[in-house]
Order: sequence, then C-alpha cells, then structure tokens
Amino acid sequence: MAKVKKINHVAIVVENIDHALTFWKEQLGLELDHIEEVPSQASKVAFLPVGEGEVELVQPTDPESGMAKYLEKRGEGMHHICLEVDDIEEMLAILNEKGVRLINQEPIDLPGRRMAFIHPKAANGVLVELYEITA
Ligand code: ZN
Repeated sequence: MAKVKKINHVAIVVENIDHALTFWKEQLGLELDHIEEVPSQASKVAFLPVGEGEVELVQPTDPESGMAKYLEKRGEGMHHICLEVDDIEEMLAILNEKGVRLINQEPIDLPGRRMAFIHPKAANGVLVELYEITA
C-alpha cells in the first residue's frame, strides 16, 4: 500500500524571490541550491534545502495564474506543504476510493518527479501536494 515517506518541501508564496532571499538566505542562513522556472505552474521557484526537506520560495510569473491571484488576495505566506509518497498513482487511487477531494485526479509529470494536489477542503484548509520522485 502506498505510503507517505517524508515532508519533501514547504512552499511559501512571495512577491519577489530576490527580496525574500534577504531573510531566508542572508539572515536565516539557509543555503540556496538553485532557482528554477516552472512554466507548468506559472512560477519561479527558489530551492533551499533544510535537512532532508526543502523550503521553496515561489514567485508567480503570470498575473493570470491561480498562484498570482492567491498572492493578490491573501498576500505572502504559506502556500502548500508537499508530502513525498512512494507510489503517487496508488496513493491517488486510495484517496479517491476514500472520497478525498483531489485537485488533480492524475499525476502531472515534471522533470524528476510526478505531482498532484489534494484539495485544501479535504485537509483542514491546507493545500497538500504529493510528490513521487522519479529520478
Ligand atoms: Zn510544491
């Protein structure tokens, strides 16, 4: 049976990654691994490893995207928590079977990973992302 393995990352939505790095990198001292454009999510992401997980700073790149609208409405802050699973396909099937509301019924393929979102209404107001690492 599919299992949750660990927290892969916590994502924070920010207006501007460079400004956000002042706190997370310069002041708090986290290491910046790299910054990546993620066109499928209309965002730019800074990856800051912390132990086995990561903090991700996410800056929307398209003002029409869901993430940009979220930022406009609620301001900067926690956006989602990402749980790494061993088998995302099976996990989605299990959740579906249990009547859990999903945003993505099928996993989305990205370089090195497959991902899907669980609806925040099913998870106490928290947007939960599932990841299966494929590389
Ligand atoms: Zn994420």
